Order: sequence, then C-alpha cells, then structure tokens
Amino acid sequence: LRTNFSVIQKETGFVNGLIAVLHDNTEQEKIDTERREFVANVSHELRTPLTTMRSYLEALADGAWQDPEIAPNFLNVTQTETERMIRLVNDLLKLSKMDSSDTELNKEMVEFNVFFNRIIDRFEMSKSQDVHFERQLPSESYFVEIDPDKLTQVIDNIISNALKYSPEGGKVRFKVNAQEGFLLVQISDQGMGIPKENVEKIFDRFYRVDRARSRAMGGTGLGLAISKEMILAHGGVIWAESKYGKGTTIFFTLPFEADDGGEWE
Ligand code: ADP
Repeated sequence: LRTNFSVIQKETGFVNGLIAVLHDNTEQEKIDTERREFVANVSHELRTPLTTMRSYLEALADGAWQDPEIAPNFLNVTQTETERMIRLVNDLLKLSKMDSSDTELNKEMVEFNVFFNRIIDRFEMSKSQDVHFERQLPSESYFVEIDPDKLTQVIDNIISNALKYSPEGGKVRFKVNAQEGFLLVQISDQGMGIPKENVEKIFDRFYRVDRARSRAMGGTGLGLAISKEMILAHGGVIWAESKYGKGTTIFFTLPFEADDGGEWE
C-alpha cells in the first residue's frame, strides 16, 4: 500500500497522498498492535490454568492419587482451574459476539426500577457477606428499551465486583437519576478503591489492578470490557470514579426516550 501511494505522489502531487498514507498506517498499526496484545493476553490467560493443571495431574499420576489426604485437594485445584478456563472462554465468546457487526439486541420495553430492583433483590438474598444495600431509586416509572439479558449481565458484573471489593460491614449503594433523555445509574461500594491513574483502564480487556488478587477471586479481567461493549450497544456510556482506599462508583447511562428515533436502530 505504501509503495503504491508513493508512485501516485510523484505524478499527482505530494501533500494529498502523504496525508492519506500516514492516516491509514497509523490506524492499521494500532489495530494490529491491539490484536497482537489481545492474542498474547488470551494465550497467557489460558496457559496459566493449563500449566497448573498439568503439574497437579502429574503429581496425581505419580502416586498422589493414593494419598487420601492430598488427592481430593489436588483434584479440587484442577476442577477450579477448569472452571476458570470455561469462564474465560465464555467471556471471550461474548466479546467476540459483541465485536462482530451483527450484534443483535433483543430489545424490550422495561420499567427500569422493577428490572433493577429484581436484580438487587437476587444479590441481597444470596450474599454471604455482611454488606448493607441502600437503594435510591426514583418514585416515578421510567421505561427503557433494552436487551434485558445483556443488561442483567452488565449489572451482575458491576454488583459482583462491588461485593468482591467490599469490606465486612460495608455499604453498597444503588442510585438511579433521570436526566434529560437518559437514566444515570450508579453503583457504589466502600471497598479498597482504584488508584487514580488506573481508573479508566478497568474497562480494558484483561486489565486488573491486582492480577493475583483478581485471579484468586476467580476473575477473568473481561467482565467490565464486556459491560462496556453492552452499554455502548445500548447507546449509553459507562465510566468509574474511585477514591483509593475509600471506594468506587461505577456509572452508566441509558437513553430512555426513543422519540428521536435514530439512536435506537
Ligand atoms: P475481574 O473482576 O474479572 O478482574 P473486571 O473487568 O470485572 O475483571 O474488572 C477489572 C478490574 O477492575 C478488576 O480486576 C479490579 O482490579 C478493578 N475493579 C473493578 N471493580 C472494582 C471495584 N468495585 N473496586 C475496586 N476495584 C475494582
């Protein structure tokens, strides 16, 4: 591509040709670099559980299977690692579906408070920690046109993170505000927070503030990247604010008036 353009430059003029070439290459290089990084990340994330499993299976084959103390423990590790790989592959499939241009949202008109309360209830019933839930939802009804399954995944992921990082006795606050044309949803925790320079990166694929900790908690580092794609597909935006050591708030918006058409199709 570059050679072709330089010939055209000689015959037809310098500036136009040069601008086009530079632009094309930078975009293409950026995409290539991202793709290479992504493949490297995926390989690394898969290799880690696989090498762990290999060494535990080797130990079992070498005789550990006969030890009633050790064997169940080693089998447990291989099971945990298998489950992690399944989660990872499932997350990768979700991302690749969102990446392909034919992403289909199965949209329905949903009253947001009812929808949101139901998800919060589910977490409140099943949570094992001593964490207090506080809801600040509007008293009016707001109808949004959303894909309920996809948005449930987004909210599940944000709440799971909030719980993961909450201290015992902490509070998770759920807040919804209606703004001009969109709902602003906030989910806040009083956890460890995220250092300022890393806050924006948490929506990047495979980014974790503390890799070892995220892994120990079963994370794949893809949850928020998937959430971001899903919110963007709904015409919203998602971002985070955090005070290191104090807590984190995840914000996202959802358009709730479709009268202007455009955005929804
Ligand atoms: P995972 O939780 O699987 O590691 P996510 O994409 O859900 O991946 O989150 C990316 C990273 O963002 C996490 O590893 C963590 O470091 C940080 N993070 C997300 N939510 C919170 C939160 N509520 N408090 C502190 N850190 C968070």
